[in-house]
Amino acid sequence: MNSGSTSIEPLNGEVAEKFIGGSGYAAWIIYRETPMDIDPLDPSNKLVFMTGPLTGTITPSAGRYVVCALSPLTGIWAESHAAGYWGPELKFAGFDGVIVEGRSEKSVYLWIHESGCEIRDAKHLWGLDTYSCEDALKKELGLDIRVASIGPAGENLVKYANIINDRGRAAGRCGLGAVMGSKNLKAIAVKGSVKLIPAAEEDKLASYVKKLYVTIRSHPTVQIYSSYGTDGIMSMMYEYGDVPIKHFTEGVWSGIENISGEVMAKKVLKRNWACFRCPIACGRIVEVKDGSYKMEEGMGPEYETVASLGALCLNDDIEAIVKANELCNKYGVDTITTGVSIAFLMECCDRGLISREVNGLRIEWGNPNLILKLIRKIAFREGIGAFLAEGVRKMSETMGEEAKQIAMHVKGLEVPMHDPRAFKGMGLQYATSHRGACHLRGEVFIIEQGERIPDLGIHERVYRFDLETKPRVVKIMQDWHDVLDSLILCKFAFIPPAAVAAILSMVVGRHITVKELTEVGERIYNLKRIIDVKRGVTAKDDSLPYRLLKEPLKNGGAAGQVVELEKMLSKYYELRGWDGDGVPSRERLIQLGLKGVAEEDLEF
Ligand code: SF4
Repeated sequence: MNSGSTSIEPLNGEVAEKFIGGSGYAAWIIYRETPMDIDPLDPSNKLVFMTGPLTGTITPSAGRYVVCALSPLTGIWAESHAAGYWGPELKFAGFDGVIVEGRSEKSVYLWIHESGCEIRDAKHLWGLDTYSCEDALKKELGLDIRVASIGPAGENLVKYANIINDRGRAAGRCGLGAVMGSKNLKAIAVKGSVKLIPAAEEDKLASYVKKLYVTIRSHPTVQIYSSYGTDGIMSMMYEYGDVPIKHFTEGVWSGIENISGEVMAKKVLKRNWACFRCPIACGRIVEVKDGSYKMEEGMGPEYETVASLGALCLNDDIEAIVKANELCNKYGVDTITTGVSIAFLMECCDRGLISREVNGLRIEWGNPNLILKLIRKIAFREGIGAFLAEGVRKMSETMGEEAKQIAMHVKGLEVPMHDPRAFKGMGLQYATSHRGACHLRGEVFIIEQGERIPDLGIHERVYRFDLETKPRVVKIMQDWHDVLDSLILCKFAFIPPAAVAAILSMVVGRHITVKELTEVGERIYNLKRIIDVKRGVTAKDDSLPYRLLKEPLKNGGAAGQVVELEKMLSKYYELRGWDGDGVPSRERLIQLGLKGVAEEDLEF
């Protein structure tokens, strides 16, 4: 971006063998090429967009891409995945990924097509929201292009700005939209001419995929996602005590019945929406016809958004939540961090840590109009919005010990909408996830609800409050999820690991086993950990907010529970081969094929 030039690098086959693609391949690039002592908004923070070997093939639910860099919100490893059509289109243009380096002097966008990549002036796009930016680029370049762009939040370097494609699909977490904004890069538009990426054994894959559709559609959770979107799990998760209410302080709330997937279907749903070649179609196209929250047809909220801008802030108006989701998407901010930051502010007011009247607004629970106003203020860094735009760790650090104690984050990433007091393995997962508190880097709560995955050696039913079984299960699931995030496959499809290995074998034309894949997953997990260690992470950072460790809820499905993290952590380190400070041992790195990393010579 400094010189306004582009170049094409061939994919490194050896790296692809060792790290698959997606976030694994990106981790290798960032480990080798990004200086580890920089501010994440420095031009030298490389921003890597990657697809995987399955992207654009006939594999179901494989239409995703990932964006990776050092996070301006957490300071450590960041990866954020988005669904839709942008990833496959990049492959159809002939590219596996895009590495953005440096900072342009003026605002620009990238136009990627089969002949290469052009850096173009984006003066006319700067200031537009993500939907308008997509519309403008389609008018300019053709209706069939795909666009990933930032909104005002990314331009204003909001620490949790995101990247939006397909009018509402988000690479949401960790603030990678701010990294894009720091490079003065407004958007990446892509267009290819092929319609599918052929597999090495295309006919065999086609008949395999036909049968796999039946397996996918028969999974009970998939059926919920198809019928009611991801918010379809709201009522069930509430019964477990998993849905955080009033900033993780309540276990019971009557408003929950107004924000379920079923209510969304009845009140605002127009139709389902599917990503590239996905038989599930968990996306919701919604419309609010009239009233204060009127909204034209557009992408509806996910479970995480409904919980964070709803239950967490005691807002039970589904139409207002739908509107808040639209605002977050258009401005380009992560809905989870937005909701947690607003709820943190509300609790600080209750405790007298901050004035209840700010910028002419009265900060109070359950006020949908307040939430909508705050979202705008965050995106434009107006008044109190500039404070909220930093995320809860930074906010709490300026307010003293009491505020720090109630700040709901791990390593700077706000806790998502699954309370680990309801699923204790999730507590260990949040504490050790390489991007901070993340429900998607392992999804252990699925196992804690009774799912078994014999292909990965999880044969037994795992009780949600049990501690003994969790270190092993968390490690297995984290490693497997790094496989999924490198291929890249949507986790909502629950494709059995043996089927994943079979598909990859047919795509690349050589036999690959689940065991090989899990070894690669562990290698990737450790490489990302090494990046975190280089950024200063130690065992003391593998922790949870005080509230989750020490404050049991009085009521609800997880009443009386806290996360006994210490009882799980040392066993987890032992299984991982990490020392007492949480650093991967030299021996384990060598076993995992990372001898060069162990010796810091920037080779394998
Ligand atoms: S399950 Fe949902 S998010 Fe995943 S690929 Fe399908 S439509 Fe997209």
